[in-house]
Amino acid sequence: MKKFSLIRKDDLISNNFERLLKLELEKNAFIYDEENPEIVIAIGGDGTFLRAVDRYIDQVEKVGFLAIHTGTLGFFSEYSVDEYELLVEDLINKTPTTFQKRLLEIDVYREKVEKYYAVNEARVENIIHTQIMQVAINQQHFETFRGTGLCVSTQLGSTAYNRSLGGAVISNELELLQLTEITGIHHRLFRSLRVSMILGDDTKISFESSDFDQAFLGWDTHTIDLKGTSKIECYLSTRCIKFLRYRPNNYLAKLTHLF
Ligand code: NAP
Repeated sequence: MKKFSLIRKDDLISNNFERLLKLELEKNAFIYDEENPEIVIAIGGDGTFLRAVDRYIDQVEKVGFLAIHTGTLGFFSEYSVDEYELLVEDLINKTPTTFQKRLLEIDVYREKVEKYYAVNEARVENIIHTQIMQVAINQQHFETFRGTGLCVSTQLGSTAYNRSLGGAVISNELELLQLTEITGIHHRLFRSLRVSMILGDDTKISFESSDFDQAFLGWDTHTIDLKGTSKIECYLSTRCIKFLRYRPNNYLAKLTHLF
C-alpha cells in the first residue's frame, strides 16, 4: 500500500486528470493521504511542481515527487497528459529509481534570521531605486553591485528566470549555483562582473546592504519585502528533493522542447 497525494493546476484538463488518476490508484490499493504521503504527484506545469514542493517542504525528505504536465512546458515532468495509461501502469507495477537535487537555502538577516527553501532560485530585486549591494563569495568580498538586482539559481532553476536573464542552462547531472545580474549598471564609475558566474556546490553567496528598503526577495513562487534586512545568504542545502523515475530521463529532449 502506498500513500499518495495530488497537487494540480486549476484548469479543466488537470482537474479531469486528477479525478481519473485518484480513482484508478485507489482501485489498486493506493491510499490518498494529503497529510503524510509517500508519493506526491504534481499535475499541471512547472509552476504546479514548485507549489507541490512548497506544500510538502517540511517533510520533503519523506516524499518522492512525480510531475505530469498537462499542456504547458513541464520541465520537471516525467509524463505528459497523453501518457495516462503508461503512468498508471508504471505507478502500479514498477519500483522507481530516485534522483535527488539539493534545495537552495536562503537566510534573511533582520531582527531574527529567517530561513526559506527554493527549487529554482532566489532573486533580490528593487524596481523602485538602484539597489546597491556588497556581494561576497564564501565570506570574501567580490564586488559592489548596482542595478535592479541579482539572481542565485540552482541547476533546476537554470531554465527558469535565470535563462530569461541570459544565464546559462546547466545540465542536470551537475549540482551548481549560478549568480546572474538583473540589469546591472556598468560604466566608467560603476562596474560589476556583468556576465553570469557559475559556482561550486559548497559556495555561500551573500548580499549585504545598508538599504534594502523597497527591495524584494523572491524565491520560486514567493515574494517578501526586505525592509529592515542587513544581509541575505544563499547556498545549497543539505535538504534535497527526491524525484521518482520510472523510466530514463532525457534532459536534452526536454531542453529542445523549451525553445
Ligand atoms: P509561474 O507561472 O508559476 O511560472 C512562470 C513560468 O516559468 C511558467 O511558464 C513556468 O512553467 C516556468 N518555469 C518555472 N520553473 C521552471 C523551470 N525550472 N524551468 C523552466 N521553466 C520554468 O510563475 P511564478 O509563480 O511567478 O514563478 C515561479 C517561477 O517562474 C520562478 O521560480 C521563476 O523562475 C519563474 N519565472 C520566470 C520568469 C521569466 O522567465 N521572466 C518570470 C517570472 C517567473 P509552467 O508554465 O510549466 O508552469
